[in-house]
This record gives sequence, structure tokens and C-alpha cells, in this order.
Amino acid sequence: MKVCKFGGSSLANATQLNKVIDIVLADPARRIVVVSAPGKRHGGDTKVTDLLIALADTALKGENTDRQFGAVVERYAQMAQELKLGDEIVREIEHDLMDRLAKVASLSQPEFMDMMKAAGEDNNAKLVAVAFEARGRKARYASPRDTGMILKGEFGDAQLDPESYARLSRAFSNFDGIVIYPGFFGYTREGKVATFPRGGSDITGSILAAAVCADVYENFTDVDSVYPVDPRIVPEVKEGIPTMTYREMRELAYAGFGVFNDDAVIPAVRARIPINIRNTNHPSEPGTMIQQSRRVVPGTVVGIASADGFCNIVVDKYLMNREIGFGRRLLQILEDEGIAYEHMPSGVDSQCVIVKGQQLPKEKEHRVIQHIRRDLSPDSVLVERDLTMIMVVGEGMCYTAGMFAKACLALASAGINISMVNQGSSEVSFMIAIRSKDRDAAVRSLYRTFFG
Ligand code: ASP
Repeated sequence: MKVCKFGGSSLANATQLNKVIDIVLADPARRIVVVSAPGKRHGGDTKVTDLLIALADTALKGENTDRQFGAVVERYAQMAQELKLGDEIVREIEHDLMDRLAKVASLSQPEFMDMMKAAGEDNNAKLVAVAFEARGRKARYASPRDTGMILKGEFGDAQLDPESYARLSRAFSNFDGIVIYPGFFGYTREGKVATFPRGGSDITGSILAAAVCADVYENFTDVDSVYPVDPRIVPEVKEGIPTMTYREMRELAYAGFGVFNDDAVIPAVRARIPINIRNTNHPSEPGTMIQQSRRVVPGTVVGIASADGFCNIVVDKYLMNREIGFGRRLLQILEDEGIAYEHMPSGVDSQCVIVKGQQLPKEKEHRVIQHIRRDLSPDSVLVERDLTMIMVVGEGMCYTAGMFAKACLALASAGINISMVNQGSSEVSFMIAIRSKDRDAAVRSLYRTFFG
């Protein structure tokens, strides 16, 4: 059995929705279909989830919601009309939205917001089920409430209650036909609607794939595959990545590869379910398969990623290596200041701590420096900003001499200075910090070297 998830761009209008139905019907193994809310139809358009947020905000302010309400209903009505689904489903969606809006006074602000956001996928799942019927194929809508998708934690940033797996697996144990399941939300134990973070339909798909032990989790989006480098930086990149391992994906995602957010894949990864990224617009393309292991050609790289906005806290102190507990006390200061750190490369008399820029806003920087001066009496402490992390990733780098040398030569030939390097013992990646202004030139030069 395959669980397939279709993102907002795959469900933005009637043409796209027909492609989705064709894809599902082309393979009888595609039995659980997770849907997002309708996304953007063109560049300047607004996603239904964003329309719903605007609607909820207006309702919370106690202002007239007619315009925002109309904008949401119009998106569904247009699809229903183009697909000739009749009026009933549109009326149903209208009533559902009115019922939700009526709860504005009885829920807290975050509870109300989540309930409104969830309306995007919930109503879309109902509409998609009707669209299947209109094409003569039975498909039934399944509700996260009835199937046991229990969430906990903060509204808008909820997580799955692990007990849900048993419930979901029971709920799907003897179903037949095609099930259309809304992504992005579930219910708390108290019965309130709660949503995952934005983009959370990917999480729903991954959870269901794990719960039913699917053969594969197909994630349909609008790209043919995952590219080894960001096409905005290297437009000439044409070949996608056919297969990559979970480890490779995680390392690339860390440095900004927009494949998936980390949360989204955890359930499928833990259950060892292969994830197939595919394109709704080119369903014959095999896409990128992400799995536990793959055939690896020694000396090859799978991808190059880069992430901006890091900063480096550099602490120098002569004979630091003889001072027992120095590193622990430095990290204690960061913990006391509520700062998460990313990496901690060290020299003989210096210790660096790399953190994401948002962890150390300018107004906090002075306080942290004072704190370090007071507790550690360093010779100097400074913060370097505007660093970019470049990750070169590939299982094929393990046990292969010269990979790092190649990367350094690529950067040297582009005249780029390296600020810091870091290679974990897994050898599946290495990380190079450079000044952000050099990012594009660095990525291009590395791409030419490893893939040119
Ligand atoms: N519709 C939600 C969003 O726009 C969730 C999703 O599409 O995955 O974030």
C-alpha cells in the first residue's frame, strides 16, 4: 500500500485536482491520499491557509468578516464549478466555516486560530472525495478525529501523541477503497482542533505511512526531483538526485535544503518507510527516493547545501586547554541565556561556538559577552556575524581520500577564505563556514568541482 500526499500547488485548481485523481487511479496501491489546502494558482495568489488566517484575525478583532469569508468560499466554489460537482459541497463548506466562526467567543485565541486554519485541509479533503465520485470512483473522506490523530503541545506547533499510532493503525486495518485524509491537523485529548507547524500536511502523510506500514510514502509536489544544489544559485543544474539516504537528507535539510522539514520525516524514517518525492505535473518522472540505504559510488557527493545567518562567538584564553571545565562553563552561560548552539569547534587556546543569528539578537549580544567576561575571564571574546554554512554531503565520501582537498581547492580557486571547517566522524558530510557575501560563488565553484 502507498500513502500519497499532495501539496497545495497540486490542489490549487480544477486542472491540478484532475491530475491528482489521474495519479491516484493509475496505481491501485495508492489507497490513502493526504491533502493540503488549495495553494497558490499563480505567483501573486494567496494560499487558502493564509486566507483563513486573515479571516480568523478579522473575526478575533470583532470586525466584519464578509470579505475574507467570501474569498475562502470562492476558492472552493470555483473548483466545484469547474469540476461540475454541484452546489451541495460548496454549501457544506460554507456552513462548516460559519460554524467555526461562531466559536470565536468560546475559544482562546490560539485554539480559534488552529480551528480556522484546519478548515483549509478539512474542507479540501471533503471536496476531493466528491471529485473522485464525480469521476465515477468511490473515495471516502476520513476525519482525523474518528481515526485517532491525537495531538499535544502548543496550538499551531502541535506534535503527535505517540499513542495515535495504535489507534490509526486500527482505524485503517480493514478499510477498502480510497481514503482522502486532510493533512495538517488533529485533535487534542480534550477534543480541540490543533495544527502542526506550517507545511504540516507532510507530517500527517509521514505519520499515516508509519501507522499503516506503507510500502512507500509518496510526496507529490511541483518539482521533478530533489536537486543536488539550489537551482536559484546554480540555474544550470538539470539532473535530480535519484536516491539518497535518510542521513543524507537530514544533513542537506539542516543546511536549508527545502526537501522536507525535519519533523515531517521523523515518523517515516523511524518506521524505515521509503519516501518518494514526485511531481504532480510530470507523474512519469521517478522523482527522488529517500531510503535507509542505497548503492554508493565511492568518491561521489549527493548534494551541496548552504544556509545563511549563522554567527560565531569566539573566546580566546591563553592556556585554556589546562583549565578544567572551561567548555562546560561556556556552555552553561549559553544555557542560562537561553541560547541553543549548533557547533563548537575549538583551537589550542580558543573556543568557538556557532549559533544561529536569531538565537543571538544584537540586543542580547552585549549581555552575553559581559557574562562570558565575568565568569571566564577570557583574553578576548567577540562575535562574528554573517556566516554561511556550506554542507557537502554524500555517503560516497566515507573512507575516500581527497574529498576535502577538492572542496578546499574549489574555494581557493574562487578566491574564497574559509572561516571554519567541521567534519563529523560519520564522514557523510563536512561543513565549511564562509562569509555570507561569498556564498553564491562558493556553491557554484563546489558544484562545478563535484558535479561538473
Ligand atoms: N496548508 C498548510 C500550510 O499552508 C499546511 C500544508 O500545506 O502542509 O502551511
